[in-house]
Amino acid sequence: MNAPGAGTALPLAATEGKRVPFIRLDNANPELMAELLAVVERIASESAFTLGPELERFEQNFAAYCGTEYGLGVSSGTAALELALRGLGIGPGDEVVVPTYSFIATAEAVSTVGATPVIVDVEEETALINAEIVAAAITERTRCVIPVHLFGRTVEMDPLLELCREREIHVVEDACQAHGALYRGKPVGSLGDAGCFSFYPTKNLGGWGDGGAFVSDDPELSHRVRLLRSHGEGTRHHHEIATGTHRLDTLQAAILDVKLGHLEDWNQRRRDAAAALGAALAGSSVDLPVPPIAHGDNVFHLFVIRSRHRDALRDHLDACGVASAVHYPTPIHLQPAYADLGLGPGSLPVAERLASENCSLPIFPAIEDWHIAETAAAVTSFEVPTDN
Ligand SMILES: *Cc1c(COP(=O)(O)O)cnc(C)c1O
Repeated sequence: MNAPGAGTALPLAATEGKRVPFIRLDNANPELMAELLAVVERIASESAFTLGPELERFEQNFAAYCGTEYGLGVSSGTAALELALRGLGIGPGDEVVVPTYSFIATAEAVSTVGATPVIVDVEEETALINAEIVAAAITERTRCVIPVHLFGRTVEMDPLLELCREREIHVVEDACQAHGALYRGKPVGSLGDAGCFSFYPTKNLGGWGDGGAFVSDDPELSHRVRLLRSHGEGTRHHHEIATGTHRLDTLQAAILDVKLGHLEDWNQRRRDAAAALGAALAGSSVDLPVPPIAHGDNVFHLFVIRSRHRDALRDHLDACGVASAVHYPTPIHLQPAYADLGLGPGSLPVAERLASENCSLPIFPAIEDWHIAETAAAVTSFEVPTDN
């Protein structure tokens, strides 16, 4: 019933059988592939698979990129968040404020260290938390806040940092979707006590599997996280903390080190693609992403539009040969994993609205003009249902 009506011209992509992909990864770029496969061959021939100088080189380069003193490769973005919290001594009895509109990992990290996630709503326009929202959730048990730079957009950090500093509350940035985004000229991840990044393959900086990084200027916290990521091993065979292994594979680090050199260019291409998409969609039936705050940024991990007829719009896009996705269809507080928090439907209404109306359009550094044109044509040709 959501198929385009009679007389609706299908844009080119559908008629040609060419589809606009949601994302393209490294295998679509032969030059980069050759360079990365050579890296894999080198690491494999050295059998340099865990820790070591190749990992350290990437850690130094990534920390420098983030403008922090310390950087540590870890096994995932989720592990980075978890180890940052453990490194800060956060555990049972402590509360950590997290937005409900995020990937579930933001809250999971709080749960897995035994602390209590205090799940809050987000701003309507940006889908981010702000100081006001956090202030209303603070209790005497609040030990930490995790702002999420969602979709690549920077959270308004200064008021939040001020609020937290006054109360000795830690700030751990979830920068898993915002590698390289600047706030007042400083990269995200360098603004709070620690920054956490994911190198999941589809992220702005993605590896060939799972990976993540912790960055910080705090020497003691960084030292603890270094111990926590690998058997609590300070010096060889001397284990100071029972913790397990949460390392970034050296192979991943070496691949990421090559890709890090392209990140600025790739982020700029995302911004340019977003500008082109935004211009092409002006005046259409959908709400476009608002511009970043004056001293903020958006590195467009995702290009997310809003429509009250989101599901019908997505069916139309699909019929036009344009891929789309939803980030995220269910806010964290409505996930079964968090049912025992007792936050039912209607409790965090902004995020619930966003979850039912948001639609992510294709965006990636190698996006081509025709991808943008077809996407815009598909969105623009969507006929908004009139009977609701
Ligand atoms: C991807 C992501 C994570 C978790 O990263 P993994 O590497 O998949 O564990 C955490 N938070 C946000 C906002 C993310 O997008």
